[in-house]
Amino acid sequence: RRTWTEISFADLPIREDLRLHQAYGAPQLDVPVRLNVNENPYPPSQGLVASIAEAIAEAGANANRYPDRDFTKLRTCLATYLTHDTGVYLDASQVWAGNGSNEVLQQILQVFGGPGRLALTFTPAYPMYDEYCRTTFTRLHSLPRTESFAIDLPQTIDAIQSLQPSVIFLTSPNNPTGTALPIEDIQAILDVAPGIVVVDEAYGEFRRDGVASAVTLLPCNPRLVVSRTMSKAFKFAGGRVGYCACAAPIIEAIKLVRLPYHLSVFTQAAACAALAARDEMLSQVATLKAERDATVSWLRQQGLQVADSDANFVMFGRFNDRHLIWNKLLRSGILVREIGPSGYLRVSIGTTAEMVAFRDALSTAMHTG
Ligand code: PMP
Repeated sequence: RRTWTEISFADLPIREDLRLHQAYGAPQLDVPVRLNVNENPYPPSQGLVASIAEAIAEAGANANRYPDRDFTKLRTCLATYLTHDTGVYLDASQVWAGNGSNEVLQQILQVFGGPGRLALTFTPAYPMYDEYCRTTFTRLHSLPRTESFAIDLPQTIDAIQSLQPSVIFLTSPNNPTGTALPIEDIQAILDVAPGIVVVDEAYGEFRRDGVASAVTLLPCNPRLVVSRTMSKAFKFAGGRVGYCACAAPIIEAIKLVRLPYHLSVFTQAAACAALAARDEMLSQVATLKAERDATVSWLRQQGLQVADSDANFVMFGRFNDRHLIWNKLLRSGILVREIGPSGYLRVSIGTTAEMVAFRDALSTAMHTG
């Protein structure tokens, strides 16, 4: 008989389909310039930190009670925010949230995917889609994106008609490529999709001026779910709040799988305080978009291949040995992400000073042995 310090991972009766996998997550390294998980580099102001702290203190006074299971106040704040961002009127019954959009997206597969059902994605895609499918026993089919990382619409429509996916993940802008999807293509896919279509707009606020959010398609497409997050443009990654907008009955369905009280009183209070400071939270989005466009131009001037980006990150390459470049950057104190097709790296847009440091370090890495 062995003790708990003697037993190893390999000894455990883990599900066979999980045994060979590793826990998902980018390296969390303590380096000066962290540009690897698409966070917003600008912290909240002291004033906002104080109002979040005040909201949390107030919530703490009732922490002996479970939180509002339906988090109606937070859903109302999120609905107001989405209406402001997209011009589409939404109310609390059409918005749902979780601990990051990861939780919301997994809940969607728990309800609408499952054994015997298929989800459709487009490669290169956000790697967590594979994981939600695995966790929920949903079969995954992935179609390759084109050379320019776009979705091939005729091929997609054929695949939908033959595979009849229960859930389709469209990501706009896409991670890791940064590619936005034309709104007409989303509508064309909705027109033939037999099940739920999720448009993951985690980076939606970075879209170019004049481009509509898929939220504008909601009123006429009852099986559309648009997912968003407070982690990116909204600079609240540490708060862990993601959400989706959709027809109210879809939310009633999601409630079948959500764990009761999944959003703590503290999460609800902090998120409402952050949403009340919407203008401050989003105040650096224009700067980040300009810095993104400048980064794309600079990388192209270096002779690199760079995917067009509508997000707060840029995918660039191709390097014969991307790990070598990644490592050289790391040694200069800059953490980027080894992700995407072989030979590519992805850099999140940081502050102006961080991007200067990135450009200097990349020039050196590319021109020294
Ligand atoms: N969707 C996409 C496309 C993402 O890139 C991410 C985060 N990297 C998420 C969803 C999940 O983010 P969060 O759980 O922080 O909302």
